[in-house]
Amino acid sequence: MESPEPFPDFPEPPARPEPPAGRRPVRCALCGRPLTGADSRRAGLGPACDAKLHPPGPDIRTRRHEVEQDPLPGT
Ligand SMILES: [Zn+2]
Repeated sequence: MESPEPFPDFPEPPARPEPPAGRRPVRCALCGRPLTGADSRRAGLGPACDAKLHPPGPDIRTRRHEVEQDPLPGT
């Protein structure tokens, strides 16, 4: 009875392409994609995910403008 080798000769897995020293890849905190843009790496988020977390809404600005405090009566 022959016992076939469970694992035939297979080539060694290719070495992972390591990034050059000093340039560690930054990954998006949300989707894990490697970030290439300087802004994205600084923010730690891809442009798309950054937009998701920080939607450009003029609400805050306009709100600040719209909110008017009543002047204190009595003066
Ligand atoms: Zn992302």
